[in-house]
Amino acid sequence: MYSDVLLHIDGKWTPSADGKADPVINPASESQIGTVAHASIADLDRALEAAARGFEVWRNVSAFDRSRLMRKAADLLRERSEGIARTMTLEQGKPLAQSRLEALAAADIIDWFAEEARRTYGRIVPSRAPGVDQLVYKKPVGPVAAFTPWNFPINQAVRKISAALATGCSIIVKGPEETPGSPAELVRAFVDAGLPDGVLNLVYGTPSEISEYLIPHPVIRKISFTGSTAVGKQLAALAGLHMKRVTMELGGHAPVIVAADADVEQAAQLMTASKFRNAGQVCVSPTRFLIEEPVYEDFVGRFTKLASEIKVGDGLEDGVQMGPLANSRRVQAMEELVHDAVGRGAALKTGGKRIGNAGYFFQPTVLADVPTDARAMNEEPFGPLALMLPVKGIDDALREANRLNYGLAAYGFAKSAETITRLSEGIETGMITINHLGLALPEVPFGGIRDSGHGTEGGADALDAYLETRFVTRRG
Ligand code: NAD
Repeated sequence: MYSDVLLHIDGKWTPSADGKADPVINPASESQIGTVAHASIADLDRALEAAARGFEVWRNVSAFDRSRLMRKAADLLRERSEGIARTMTLEQGKPLAQSRLEALAAADIIDWFAEEARRTYGRIVPSRAPGVDQLVYKKPVGPVAAFTPWNFPINQAVRKISAALATGCSIIVKGPEETPGSPAELVRAFVDAGLPDGVLNLVYGTPSEISEYLIPHPVIRKISFTGSTAVGKQLAALAGLHMKRVTMELGGHAPVIVAADADVEQAAQLMTASKFRNAGQVCVSPTRFLIEEPVYEDFVGRFTKLASEIKVGDGLEDGVQMGPLANSRRVQAMEELVHDAVGRGAALKTGGKRIGNAGYFFQPTVLADVPTDARAMNEEPFGPLALMLPVKGIDDALREANRLNYGLAAYGFAKSAETITRLSEGIETGMITINHLGLALPEVPFGGIRDSGHGTEGGADALDAYLETRFVTRRG
Protein backbone atom coordinates (compact mmCIF):
# COMPACT_ATOMS: atom_id res chain seq x y z
CA MET A 1 0.00 0.00 0.00
CA TYR A 2 2.96 2.35 0.58
CA SER A 3 6.00 2.42 -1.71
CA ASP A 4 9.48 3.31 -0.53
CA VAL A 5 10.27 6.88 -1.58
CA LEU A 6 13.29 7.74 -3.73
CA LEU A 7 14.98 11.00 -4.60
CA HIS A 8 14.22 12.52 -7.99
CA ILE A 9 17.34 14.02 -9.58
CA ASP A 10 17.95 14.93 -13.20
CA GLY A 11 14.86 13.12 -14.44
CA LYS A 12 15.54 9.85 -12.58
CA TRP A 13 14.14 8.25 -9.43
CA THR A 14 17.15 7.18 -7.44
CA PRO A 15 18.24 5.95 -4.00
CA SER A 16 20.79 8.16 -2.24
CA ALA A 17 24.41 7.82 -3.37
CA ASP A 18 25.40 6.12 -0.11
CA GLY A 19 22.25 4.01 0.11
CA LYS A 20 21.04 5.70 3.31
CA ALA A 21 17.27 5.75 3.98
CA ASP A 22 15.05 6.76 6.91
CA PRO A 23 11.87 5.09 8.18
CA VAL A 24 8.43 6.52 7.40
CA ILE A 25 5.95 6.12 10.27
CA ASN A 26 2.13 5.93 10.16
CA PRO A 27 1.09 8.41 12.90
CA ALA A 28 -2.17 6.48 13.48
CA SER A 29 -0.34 3.30 14.53
CA GLU A 30 3.29 4.36 15.06
CA SER A 31 4.32 1.45 12.81
CA GLN A 32 6.84 1.77 9.99
CA ILE A 33 5.20 1.78 6.56
CA GLY A 34 8.21 2.36 4.34
CA THR A 35 11.44 4.29 3.90
CA VAL A 36 12.59 7.52 2.33
CA ALA A 37 15.99 7.98 0.69
CA HIS A 38 18.31 10.29 2.64
CA ALA A 39 20.30 12.58 0.35
CA SER A 40 24.06 12.95 0.80
CA ILE A 41 26.14 15.92 -0.33
CA ALA A 42 26.96 13.99 -3.52
CA ASP A 43 23.20 13.80 -4.26
CA LEU A 44 22.80 17.52 -3.61
CA ASP A 45 25.66 18.27 -5.98
CA ARG A 46 23.98 16.23 -8.69
CA ALA A 47 20.68 18.01 -8.03
CA LEU A 48 22.40 21.40 -8.29
CA GLU A 49 24.08 20.52 -11.58
CA ALA A 50 20.78 19.21 -12.89
CA ALA A 51 18.90 22.34 -11.79
CA ALA A 52 21.48 24.56 -13.50
CA ARG A 53 21.12 22.60 -16.77
CA GLY A 54 17.35 22.33 -16.35
CA PHE A 55 17.07 26.09 -16.02
CA GLU A 56 18.85 26.65 -19.35
CA VAL A 57 16.35 24.32 -21.02
CA TRP A 58 13.17 25.45 -19.27
CA ARG A 59 13.72 29.21 -19.52
CA ASN A 60 13.76 28.75 -23.31
CA VAL A 61 10.50 26.80 -23.47
CA SER A 62 7.71 29.19 -24.47
CA ALA A 63 5.19 30.27 -21.85
CA PHE A 64 2.53 28.63 -24.01
CA ASP A 65 4.26 25.22 -23.90
CA ARG A 66 5.09 25.50 -20.19
CA SER A 67 1.45 26.18 -19.53
CA ARG A 68 0.31 23.21 -21.63
CA LEU A 69 2.64 20.80 -19.82
CA MET A 70 1.52 22.07 -16.41
CA ARG A 71 -2.12 21.49 -17.31
CA LYS A 72 -1.29 17.93 -18.29
CA ALA A 73 0.34 17.41 -14.87
CA ALA A 74 -2.80 18.77 -13.21
CA ASP A 75 -4.94 16.26 -15.12
CA LEU A 76 -2.66 13.38 -14.11
CA LEU A 77 -2.92 14.47 -10.48
CA ARG A 78 -6.72 14.43 -10.71
CA GLU A 79 -6.71 10.96 -12.30
CA ARG A 80 -4.45 9.64 -9.56
CA SER A 81 -5.99 11.53 -6.64
CA GLU A 82 -7.56 8.49 -4.97
CA GLY A 83 -4.29 6.56 -4.65
CA ILE A 84 -2.38 9.68 -3.67
CA ALA A 85 -4.94 10.47 -0.97
CA ARG A 86 -4.43 7.04 0.62
CA THR A 87 -0.68 7.52 0.61
CA MET A 88 -1.10 10.91 2.27
CA THR A 89 -3.44 9.63 4.98
CA LEU A 90 -1.12 6.71 5.72
CA GLU A 91 1.90 8.96 6.23
CA GLN A 92 0.30 12.14 7.58
CA GLY A 93 -2.84 10.95 9.37
CA LYS A 94 -5.50 13.38 8.12
CA PRO A 95 -8.91 11.91 7.17
CA LEU A 96 -9.04 10.47 3.66
CA ALA A 97 -11.59 13.06 2.48
CA GLN A 98 -9.19 15.87 3.47
CA SER A 99 -6.30 14.15 1.65
CA ARG A 100 -8.44 13.73 -1.46
CA LEU A 101 -9.42 17.38 -1.33
CA GLU A 102 -5.77 18.40 -0.99
CA ALA A 103 -4.76 16.43 -4.10
CA LEU A 104 -7.66 17.85 -6.12
CA ALA A 105 -7.05 21.39 -4.87
CA ALA A 106 -3.40 21.03 -5.92
CA ALA A 107 -4.54 20.27 -9.47
CA ASP A 108 -6.57 23.50 -9.44
CA ILE A 109 -3.53 25.41 -8.17
CA ILE A 110 -1.39 24.04 -11.02
CA ASP A 111 -4.08 25.02 -13.53
CA TRP A 112 -4.27 28.55 -12.15
CA PHE A 113 -0.50 29.05 -12.30
CA ALA A 114 -0.47 27.49 -15.78
CA GLU A 115 -2.93 30.17 -16.89
CA GLU A 116 -0.86 32.91 -15.26
CA ALA A 117 2.29 31.53 -16.92
CA ARG A 118 1.00 33.07 -20.14
CA ARG A 119 0.56 36.49 -18.52
CA THR A 120 4.05 37.29 -17.23
CA TYR A 121 4.05 40.53 -19.16
CA GLY A 122 6.81 43.11 -19.26
CA ARG A 123 5.95 46.71 -20.20
CA ILE A 124 7.01 49.68 -22.28
CA VAL A 125 7.57 52.95 -20.44
CA PRO A 126 6.97 56.12 -22.53
CA SER A 127 10.31 57.82 -23.12
CA ARG A 128 11.25 61.50 -22.76
CA ALA A 129 13.33 61.59 -25.93
CA PRO A 130 12.08 60.73 -29.43
CA GLY A 131 13.40 57.45 -30.84
CA VAL A 132 14.13 55.93 -27.43
CA ASP A 133 12.46 52.69 -26.36
CA GLN A 134 12.31 51.94 -22.62
CA LEU A 135 11.59 48.24 -22.11
CA VAL A 136 10.89 46.44 -18.85
CA TYR A 137 11.47 42.68 -19.07
CA LYS A 138 10.37 40.06 -16.56
CA LYS A 139 12.87 37.19 -16.48
CA PRO A 140 12.87 34.00 -14.39
CA VAL A 141 15.08 34.48 -11.35
CA GLY A 142 16.87 31.12 -11.80
CA PRO A 143 17.13 27.80 -9.95
CA VAL A 144 15.04 27.79 -6.77
CA ALA A 145 15.58 25.90 -3.49
CA ALA A 146 12.24 25.20 -1.78
CA PHE A 147 11.67 23.72 1.68
CA THR A 148 8.22 22.32 2.38
CA PRO A 149 6.63 20.90 5.57
CA TRP A 150 4.58 17.86 6.52
CA ASN A 151 1.21 19.38 7.43
CA PHE A 152 0.00 19.76 3.82
CA PRO A 153 2.54 17.55 2.06
CA ILE A 154 1.23 18.35 -1.43
CA ASN A 155 -0.33 21.76 -0.99
CA GLN A 156 2.77 23.40 0.49
CA ALA A 157 4.94 22.04 -2.33
CA VAL A 158 2.58 22.67 -5.23
CA ARG A 159 2.45 26.44 -4.78
CA LYS A 160 6.23 26.73 -4.92
CA ILE A 161 6.66 24.25 -7.78
CA SER A 162 3.87 25.82 -9.85
CA ALA A 163 5.12 29.39 -9.43
CA ALA A 164 8.66 28.32 -10.32
CA LEU A 165 7.64 26.31 -13.38
CA ALA A 166 5.16 28.94 -14.60
CA THR A 167 7.86 31.60 -14.68
CA GLY A 168 10.56 29.43 -16.31
CA CYS A 169 12.64 28.61 -13.21
CA SER A 170 14.04 25.19 -12.32
CA ILE A 171 13.64 24.00 -8.73
CA ILE A 172 15.05 21.68 -6.07
CA VAL A 173 12.42 20.80 -3.47
CA LYS A 174 13.46 19.50 -0.08
CA GLY A 175 10.30 17.66 0.83
CA PRO A 176 9.07 16.68 4.30
CA GLU A 177 10.81 13.54 5.59
CA GLU A 178 7.77 12.58 7.75
CA THR A 179 5.41 12.60 4.75
CA PRO A 180 7.52 12.01 1.63
CA GLY A 181 5.25 9.75 -0.46
CA SER A 182 2.50 12.15 -1.49
CA PRO A 183 4.79 15.04 -2.55
CA ALA A 184 6.77 12.46 -4.57
CA GLU A 185 3.52 11.66 -6.40
CA LEU A 186 3.06 15.36 -7.12
CA VAL A 187 6.53 15.43 -8.68
CA ARG A 188 5.72 12.24 -10.60
CA ALA A 189 2.72 13.96 -12.22
CA PHE A 190 5.00 16.66 -13.66
CA VAL A 191 7.61 14.12 -14.73
CA ASP A 192 5.02 11.93 -16.45
CA ALA A 193 3.56 15.01 -18.15
CA GLY A 194 6.91 15.37 -19.93
CA LEU A 195 8.89 17.91 -17.89
CA PRO A 196 12.51 18.00 -19.19
CA ASP A 197 15.19 16.40 -16.99
CA GLY A 198 16.66 18.57 -14.24
CA VAL A 199 13.83 21.12 -14.15
CA LEU A 200 12.19 19.65 -11.03
CA ASN A 201 14.31 17.79 -8.48
CA LEU A 202 13.17 16.32 -5.16
CA VAL A 203 15.40 15.51 -2.19
CA TYR A 204 14.94 14.43 1.42
CA GLY A 205 17.50 14.14 4.21
CA THR A 206 18.69 16.18 7.18
CA PRO A 207 16.88 19.54 6.81
CA SER A 208 19.64 21.72 8.29
CA GLU A 209 22.35 20.00 6.25
CA ILE A 210 20.40 20.49 3.03
CA SER A 211 19.45 24.13 3.66
CA GLU A 212 22.97 25.05 4.77
CA TYR A 213 24.34 23.55 1.56
CA LEU A 214 21.77 24.74 -0.96
CA ILE A 215 21.08 28.30 0.21
CA PRO A 216 24.66 29.64 -0.12
CA HIS A 217 25.35 27.63 -3.30
CA PRO A 218 25.97 29.89 -6.32
CA VAL A 219 23.58 27.91 -8.54
CA ILE A 220 20.60 28.75 -6.30
CA ARG A 221 19.04 32.18 -6.89
CA LYS A 222 15.87 32.07 -4.82
CA ILE A 223 14.72 30.48 -1.55
CA SER A 224 11.17 29.62 -0.55
CA PHE A 225 10.44 28.15 2.88
CA THR A 226 7.30 27.11 4.72
CA GLY A 227 7.65 26.16 8.38
CA SER A 228 8.21 27.63 11.81
CA THR A 229 9.18 31.24 12.42
CA ALA A 230 12.33 30.20 14.31
CA VAL A 231 13.69 28.15 11.38
CA GLY A 232 12.47 30.74 8.84
CA LYS A 233 14.52 33.46 10.54
CA GLN A 234 17.65 31.31 10.38
CA LEU A 235 17.16 30.52 6.71
CA ALA A 236 16.29 34.14 5.83
CA ALA A 237 19.47 35.29 7.60
CA LEU A 238 21.56 32.81 5.62
CA ALA A 239 19.85 33.84 2.39
CA GLY A 240 20.48 37.51 3.24
CA LEU A 241 24.16 36.81 3.74
CA HIS A 242 24.30 35.50 0.18
CA MET A 243 21.90 38.10 -1.27
CA LYS A 244 19.28 35.52 -2.32
CA ARG A 245 15.63 36.39 -2.85
CA VAL A 246 13.28 34.79 -0.29
CA THR A 247 9.64 33.94 0.24
CA MET A 248 8.90 33.02 3.87
CA GLU A 249 5.62 31.38 4.82
CA LEU A 250 5.91 31.02 8.60
CA GLY A 251 3.89 30.36 11.71
CA GLY A 252 0.73 32.09 12.87
CA HIS A 253 -1.49 32.48 15.92
CA ALA A 254 -4.75 33.42 14.30
CA PRO A 255 -7.18 35.54 16.32
CA VAL A 256 -10.93 35.03 15.91
CA ILE A 257 -13.02 38.07 16.85
CA VAL A 258 -16.67 37.36 17.60
CA ALA A 259 -18.69 40.59 17.98
CA ALA A 260 -21.77 40.83 20.17
CA ASP A 261 -24.04 41.09 17.12
CA ALA A 262 -22.52 38.07 15.31
CA ASP A 263 -24.46 34.99 14.22
CA VAL A 264 -23.05 32.90 17.07
CA GLU A 265 -24.22 29.53 15.76
CA GLN A 266 -22.69 30.16 12.32
CA ALA A 267 -19.44 31.33 13.94
CA ALA A 268 -19.27 28.25 16.19
CA GLN A 269 -19.91 25.86 13.30
CA LEU A 270 -17.44 27.40 10.86
CA MET A 271 -14.77 27.76 13.52
CA THR A 272 -15.00 24.19 14.87
CA ALA A 273 -14.68 22.84 11.32
CA SER A 274 -11.73 25.13 10.71
CA LYS A 275 -9.99 24.70 14.09
CA PHE A 276 -9.88 20.91 14.03
CA ARG A 277 -9.14 20.46 10.32
CA ASN A 278 -5.86 18.57 10.01
CA ALA A 279 -5.91 18.32 13.85
CA GLY A 280 -5.13 22.04 14.07
CA GLN A 281 -1.77 21.62 12.35
CA VAL A 282 -2.46 24.47 9.99
CA CYS A 283 -0.59 27.77 9.86
CA VAL A 284 -3.89 29.70 9.55
CA SER A 285 -5.67 27.62 12.21
CA PRO A 286 -8.02 29.75 14.38
CA THR A 287 -6.43 29.85 17.83
CA ARG A 288 -7.19 32.86 20.07
CA PHE A 289 -10.96 33.30 20.27
CA LEU A 290 -11.70 36.87 21.42
CA ILE A 291 -15.39 37.05 22.16
CA GLU A 292 -17.43 40.07 23.21
CA GLU A 293 -18.77 39.55 26.72
CA PRO A 294 -22.53 39.48 25.92
CA VAL A 295 -22.10 36.37 23.68
CA TYR A 296 -19.11 34.76 25.42
CA GLU A 297 -20.92 32.00 27.35
CA ASP A 298 -23.16 31.24 24.38
CA PHE A 299 -20.24 30.91 21.93
CA VAL A 300 -18.05 28.87 24.30
CA GLY A 301 -20.98 26.51 25.01
CA ARG A 302 -21.82 25.89 21.35
CA PHE A 303 -18.19 25.54 20.29
CA THR A 304 -17.41 23.13 23.16
CA LYS A 305 -20.40 20.95 22.32
CA LEU A 306 -19.38 20.72 18.65
CA ALA A 307 -15.73 20.06 19.56
CA SER A 308 -16.61 17.24 21.94
CA GLU A 309 -18.69 15.53 19.21
CA ILE A 310 -15.81 15.32 16.70
CA LYS A 311 -14.95 11.73 15.80
CA VAL A 312 -11.21 11.16 16.20
CA GLY A 313 -9.50 8.11 14.69
CA ASP A 314 -7.50 6.57 11.89
CA GLY A 315 -8.02 8.76 8.83
CA LEU A 316 -8.71 5.70 6.66
CA GLU A 317 -11.82 4.79 8.70
CA ASP A 318 -15.25 5.96 7.57
CA GLY A 319 -16.71 8.93 9.39
CA VAL A 320 -13.47 10.02 11.08
CA GLN A 321 -13.29 13.83 11.23
CA MET A 322 -9.91 14.29 12.89
CA GLY A 323 -6.84 12.08 12.62
CA PRO A 324 -3.75 11.82 14.81
CA LEU A 325 -1.13 14.52 15.18
CA ALA A 326 1.78 14.09 12.79
CA ASN A 327 4.42 13.07 15.31
CA SER A 328 5.17 12.59 19.00
CA ARG A 329 6.63 16.13 19.29
CA ARG A 330 3.17 17.60 18.72
CA VAL A 331 1.52 15.37 21.37
CA GLN A 332 4.11 16.39 23.91
CA ALA A 333 3.68 20.06 22.97
CA MET A 334 -0.13 19.83 23.45
CA GLU A 335 0.25 18.20 26.86
CA GLU A 336 2.68 20.89 28.00
CA LEU A 337 0.57 23.79 26.72
CA VAL A 338 -2.65 22.48 28.32
CA HIS A 339 -0.88 21.81 31.63
CA ASP A 340 0.62 25.31 31.64
CA ALA A 341 -2.69 27.05 30.77
CA VAL A 342 -4.69 25.16 33.42
CA GLY A 343 -1.95 25.86 35.97
CA ARG A 344 -2.39 29.58 35.27
CA GLY A 345 -6.14 29.45 35.79
CA ALA A 346 -7.68 28.50 32.43
CA ALA A 347 -10.84 26.38 32.53
CA LEU A 348 -10.65 23.09 30.60
CA LYS A 349 -14.04 22.81 28.85
CA THR A 350 -13.36 19.62 26.89
CA GLY A 351 -10.43 17.42 25.85
CA GLY A 352 -6.93 18.08 27.08
CA LYS A 353 -5.56 14.54 26.89
CA ARG A 354 -3.83 12.09 24.61
CA ILE A 355 -6.11 9.30 23.36
CA GLY A 356 -4.85 5.70 23.74
CA ASN A 357 -1.26 4.51 23.70
CA ALA A 358 -0.68 3.75 20.04
CA GLY A 359 -0.87 6.56 17.49
CA TYR A 360 -0.44 10.27 18.16
CA PHE A 361 -4.11 10.99 18.91
CA PHE A 362 -5.10 14.00 21.01
CA GLN A 363 -8.56 15.14 22.04
CA PRO A 364 -10.11 18.26 20.48
CA THR A 365 -9.51 20.70 23.32
CA VAL A 366 -11.24 23.88 24.44
CA LEU A 367 -9.77 26.10 27.15
CA ALA A 368 -11.79 29.08 28.42
CA ASP A 369 -10.74 32.23 30.30
CA VAL A 370 -7.15 31.64 29.26
CA PRO A 371 -4.83 34.29 30.74
CA THR A 372 -2.74 36.12 28.15
CA ASP A 373 0.47 35.05 29.86
CA ALA A 374 -0.28 31.34 29.29
CA ARG A 375 2.29 29.85 26.92
CA ALA A 376 -0.39 28.78 24.46
CA MET A 377 -1.56 32.40 24.11
CA ASN A 378 1.93 33.36 22.94
CA GLU A 379 3.40 30.31 21.17
CA GLU A 380 1.83 28.74 18.10
CA PRO A 381 0.12 25.57 19.43
CA PHE A 382 -0.02 23.89 15.99
CA GLY A 383 -2.51 21.35 17.28
CA PRO A 384 -6.17 20.94 18.31
CA LEU A 385 -6.30 23.67 21.00
CA ALA A 386 -8.94 26.43 20.99
CA LEU A 387 -8.28 29.23 23.49
CA MET A 388 -11.21 31.42 24.57
CA LEU A 389 -11.08 34.87 26.13
CA PRO A 390 -13.90 37.39 26.80
CA VAL A 391 -13.27 40.96 25.56
CA LYS A 392 -15.04 44.21 26.47
CA GLY A 393 -15.36 45.54 22.92
CA ILE A 394 -13.85 45.59 19.45
CA ASP A 395 -10.95 47.87 20.45
CA ASP A 396 -10.10 45.45 23.24
CA ALA A 397 -10.30 42.53 20.79
CA LEU A 398 -8.08 44.24 18.21
CA ARG A 399 -5.53 45.16 20.89
CA GLU A 400 -5.24 41.51 21.95
CA ALA A 401 -5.33 40.25 18.35
CA ASN A 402 -2.43 42.53 17.38
CA ARG A 403 -0.44 41.93 20.58
CA LEU A 404 1.69 39.10 19.18
CA ASN A 405 4.36 39.48 16.54
CA TYR A 406 2.62 36.88 14.39
CA GLY A 407 0.56 38.30 11.54
CA LEU A 408 -0.70 35.56 9.26
CA ALA A 409 -4.47 35.07 9.29
CA ALA A 410 -7.47 36.34 11.27
CA TYR A 411 -11.19 35.59 11.41
CA GLY A 412 -14.08 37.93 12.21
CA PHE A 413 -17.79 37.49 12.89
CA ALA A 414 -20.01 40.58 13.06
CA LYS A 415 -23.16 42.02 11.51
CA SER A 416 -22.74 45.77 11.73
CA ALA A 417 -21.01 47.37 8.75
CA GLU A 418 -19.06 49.59 11.12
CA THR A 419 -17.59 46.62 13.03
CA ILE A 420 -16.79 44.78 9.79
CA THR A 421 -14.89 47.86 8.55
CA ARG A 422 -13.02 48.22 11.84
CA LEU A 423 -11.94 44.58 11.67
CA SER A 424 -10.87 44.91 8.03
CA GLU A 425 -8.84 48.05 8.70
CA GLY A 426 -7.61 47.41 12.22
CA ILE A 427 -6.28 43.86 12.09
CA GLU A 428 -2.54 43.46 11.52
CA THR A 429 -2.39 40.22 9.59
CA GLY A 430 -1.71 39.32 5.98
CA MET A 431 -5.25 37.92 5.59
CA ILE A 432 -8.65 38.17 7.30
CA THR A 433 -11.84 36.35 6.44
CA ILE A 434 -15.09 37.79 7.82
CA ASN A 435 -18.40 35.91 8.24
CA HIS A 436 -17.26 33.03 5.98
CA LEU A 437 -14.20 30.88 5.24
CA GLY A 438 -12.45 32.30 2.21
CA LEU A 439 -8.68 31.88 2.55
CA ALA A 440 -6.17 30.00 0.39
CA LEU A 441 -7.81 30.01 -3.04
CA PRO A 442 -5.15 29.97 -5.79
CA GLU A 443 -6.21 33.34 -7.21
CA VAL A 444 -6.00 35.38 -3.99
CA PRO A 445 -2.94 36.42 -1.94
CA PHE A 446 -1.75 33.94 0.67
CA GLY A 447 0.93 35.12 3.08
CA GLY A 448 1.77 36.83 6.33
CA ILE A 449 3.38 39.96 7.68
CA ARG A 450 5.72 40.59 10.64
CA ASP A 451 7.02 37.32 12.18
CA SER A 452 4.72 35.28 9.92
CA GLY A 453 7.00 36.01 6.99
CA HIS A 454 6.84 37.88 3.73
CA GLY A 455 5.79 37.32 0.16
CA THR A 456 2.63 35.70 -1.05
CA GLU A 457 2.03 32.24 -2.49
CA GLY A 458 -1.28 33.00 -4.14
CA GLY A 459 -2.60 35.49 -6.66
CA ALA A 460 -0.64 37.24 -9.39
CA ASP A 461 1.98 38.53 -6.92
CA ALA A 462 3.06 34.94 -6.30
CA LEU A 463 4.67 34.84 -9.74
CA ASP A 464 6.50 38.11 -9.24
CA ALA A 465 8.48 36.46 -6.46
CA TYR A 466 10.06 34.18 -9.10
CA LEU A 467 10.73 36.91 -11.64
CA GLU A 468 13.33 39.63 -11.79
CA THR A 469 12.87 42.97 -13.45
CA ARG A 470 15.39 43.95 -16.13
CA PHE A 471 15.38 47.33 -17.83
CA VAL A 472 16.59 48.10 -21.35
CA THR A 473 16.67 51.58 -22.84
CA ARG A 474 17.65 51.82 -26.51
CA ARG A 475 17.73 54.24 -29.38
CA GLY A 476 17.41 53.30 -33.01
P1 NAD B 1 10.43 22.36 12.97
O1 NAD B 1 10.62 23.81 13.18
O2 NAD B 1 11.51 21.42 13.43
O3 NAD B 1 10.20 22.04 11.41
C1 NAD B 1 9.26 22.72 10.64
C2 NAD B 1 9.60 22.46 9.17
O4 NAD B 1 10.85 23.06 8.86
C3 NAD B 1 9.81 20.97 8.85
O5 NAD B 1 9.29 20.73 7.57
C4 NAD B 1 11.30 20.77 8.86
O6 NAD B 1 11.72 19.76 7.98
C5 NAD B 1 11.80 22.10 8.40
N1 NAD B 1 13.10 22.46 8.96
C6 NAD B 1 13.48 22.43 10.26
N2 NAD B 1 14.75 22.86 10.40
C7 NAD B 1 15.18 23.18 9.15
C8 NAD B 1 16.40 23.70 8.62
N3 NAD B 1 17.45 24.01 9.42
N4 NAD B 1 16.48 23.89 7.29
C9 NAD B 1 15.44 23.62 6.47
N5 NAD B 1 14.28 23.13 6.90
C10 NAD B 1 14.14 22.92 8.23
O7 NAD B 1 9.09 21.98 13.65
P2 NAD B 1 8.16 20.70 13.59
O8 NAD B 1 8.14 20.10 14.95
O9 NAD B 1 8.42 19.82 12.43
O10 NAD B 1 6.81 21.45 13.33
C11 NAD B 1 6.23 22.23 14.33
C12 NAD B 1 6.34 23.69 14.07
O11 NAD B 1 6.63 23.97 12.71
C13 NAD B 1 5.01 24.32 14.37
O12 NAD B 1 5.03 24.93 15.62
C14 NAD B 1 4.79 25.32 13.27
O13 NAD B 1 5.12 26.61 13.71
C15 NAD B 1 5.78 24.99 12.21
N6 NAD B 1 5.18 24.55 10.95
C16 NAD B 1 4.57 25.49 10.20
C17 NAD B 1 3.98 25.14 9.02
C18 NAD B 1 3.30 26.16 8.17
O14 NAD B 1 2.44 25.79 7.40
N7 NAD B 1 3.66 27.43 8.27
C19 NAD B 1 4.02 23.81 8.61
C20 NAD B 1 4.66 22.86 9.40
C21 NAD B 1 5.26 23.25 10.58
